[in-house]
Formats: sequence, C-alpha cells, structure tokens
Amino acid sequence: MVRLLEIRETVEPMASTMRNAYIDFSKMTTSVVAVITDVERDGHRVVGYGFNSNGRYAPRGILQDRMIPRLREAPPECLVNDDGSNLDPARMWQVMLADEKPGGHGERSTAVGTLDMAIWDAVAKIASKPLYILLAERYRGAPADDRVWVYAAGGYYQPGKDLAALQDEMRGYLDLGYRTVKIKIGGAPLADDLERIEAVLDVLDGDGSRLCVDANGRFDTRTALEYGRAMAGYGLRWYEEPGDPLDYALMAELAQAYEPPLATGENLFSHQDARNLLRYGGMRAERDVVQFDCALSYGLVEYLRTLDTMRQLGWSSRRVVPHGGHQMSLNIAAGLGLGGNESYPGVFQPFGGFADDLRVDNGYVGLPDSPGVGFERKQALYDVMRRLAA
Ligand code: MG
Repeated sequence: MVRLLEIRETVEPMASTMRNAYIDFSKMTTSVVAVITDVERDGHRVVGYGFNSNGRYAPRGILQDRMIPRLREAPPECLVNDDGSNLDPARMWQVMLADEKPGGHGERSTAVGTLDMAIWDAVAKIASKPLYILLAERYRGAPADDRVWVYAAGGYYQPGKDLAALQDEMRGYLDLGYRTVKIKIGGAPLADDLERIEAVLDVLDGDGSRLCVDANGRFDTRTALEYGRAMAGYGLRWYEEPGDPLDYALMAELAQAYEPPLATGENLFSHQDARNLLRYGGMRAERDVVQFDCALSYGLVEYLRTLDTMRQLGWSSRRVVPHGGHQMSLNIAAGLGLGGNESYPGVFQPFGGFADDLRVDNGYVGLPDSPGVGFERKQALYDVMRRLAA
C-alpha cells in the first residue's frame, strides 16, 4: 500500500512593486508544500509539490495547525484508493476537512488547494503519467487537448510607468508569442484608464478582442456601469471583476447594460459560491467567462464539483479560463477541456509560467510530457520545491 511518509511546508516571498486597483504586492507570500511518499519511480522517491497560486498570502497557520496534522494522523488506509495502489485525492480531501463547518470559504480553501495540488502531482507521478493525461482518462472519456489558449496578464500600475512603458510591456508579450493581453484598470481615474486602454489597442492593431481589462473588484455599481459605458465601443475580450466578488446584484445589473463579455470568479472559493454567481450574477453562458482558481478554492477535488455544477446550470467547461497562471490550472485546462488559462510572463516568478522549453505560439502553449504537474520542467520553480524535500 502506498504510504505518505511526510508533509513539509514553507513560506516563500512573492513580493514585487506591482499594484492593482485593490492591493499592492510588496509583502505577498505563498506556501509551498511537499508530499513525500514511500513510492519509487525511475530510481527516485515520488514527491508531490504544490503552492497556493498568487494574490493570497501563505496560509501557514491553517496548514500547520489543522490540515497537515489531520493527514499525518489519519490511518494510512484512509488516504489511498481501494487497492492501495495510489493516493486518493477525494479521500484525503475528506480527511483535511473533517470537523470544519460549511460556508465561510476563505483562507482555509487556499490551504486545502495547496495540499491538493501536491497530492495530484504525487498521484500522477505514481501513475507515471502527466496529470492532464490522467485527468482526461479518468474524467473526460476523451483525449486531452494538446495545447491551451493562454493570454498575457500584466499592465499593472507601477511607480514611474507611463503609456510608452505600458506599450513596451505589451509588445514584449506579443514577441513572446501571445496574441491577447490584459491590463489593470480602476487604479487610476477613468480618463487615465481610457488612455491606457487606447495606448494598448494601438499595439494590438486596434483589435479590442485581443484586450482584457481587470478592475480587481474595486468598483461600486455606479462606477462599474460608468466604466462599462465608456468601454463598450472597444469590443474588449472581457471586462473582469468589476465589483466585489460577492456582489452578484452588481454583476447582474452590469450584464443588463454592458453587451460585450464579462469575466469574474477568481475570488470565489467553493462550488457553492460558484453556483451563487451563476444563479444570481446575471452571467451569460454563451458569452461570459468564469475564472475559478483551483489552488485558491479547495483544489481539484472541489473543482470537479464546480465543473459539475456549471454543467447542471447550462455552462460549458470552455467558458472557464482560470486565474493564476500556474501549471496546475494548465493541466486541468488541457485534461478537462477548459477554455484557456491565464499567464503571467515574467511576473510572480518563479511560480508563474509553464515549462521552460515550451514556447507560446500564436496564443497557445503545449504541455510537457513528464509525469505529474510538470514542475520539474520549470527549473527555477523546481529548485525552490526540491529544497523542501531534500
Ligand atoms: Mg483578475
């Protein structure tokens, strides 16, 4: 029977001078975890790794006080599948969330999502398969996608960054092979933001369908509508997180008034919250985009429930483009047929981004053929993770 030998956890900095409409990232951190098993593959011990995406601080206390002890103290047979040949992420999820009340999905969901990422990395390594292949076989009944649509998320506010610098940043993304880019809005007055949008559109040959804008939940309803009226003529790819993540009435009112696509969901951390958004947020299943991030929201075990909930409410998985720009979501996108994945070229390093040897081509990226999530193919990140298991 596969056994869990040890779980290790550390906190890594993810700090930068960047700012969006809501927070600055000067003290940002992330948790990194290593799930060490007694299994050997190709002469190496199987270790699963995970981290907690970006934009939420390392949930160290919850990991150390509750989630990791529960996994350590559980009878080994409660953590594995029926024949004991591999870890069972769904059973481990039940162990982690024992004696936790429902609702109030917040930092707890990030702690579980971090461990869940490491568990799935280990599961795929024990099965000697890339995670996206394993997911397609288990849950999709169809081959995995061999490439995933990605867009370059940047355009943050930074000290001394003028329009020319913003345009240079965007040209850099196009040079890397991206076709679609995203910039922040809501951190400057509307008139200034419109200048920023138009400056970037100049770089994109005026094609609004290649530009997303993100307000990071800053606006009240009046401001969200005001921005919507001002931007409607650009035909943007999407207008992201206009208001508070839990203000479904704001979304519904905006969806009545703003014709082009809307996007939101990166700060909803459970399938119940996702369900509320789709029930009450006025989101349009044929047009809008949802951005749930498994690492922030109880991991892939919960993500499968979220995708199921979406299906029940008439939403295709192709309408999901997860937040976070990490390899775990890229595997889910390819394995389960999502619509794409966020990408942060050069930002949130070494955590953001994909395999070192796979280039973005015309807005799409391929996936590595190594077992697990593919962290070993991103050297700077793997160096951080490997230290933890050494
Ligand atoms: Mg966002």
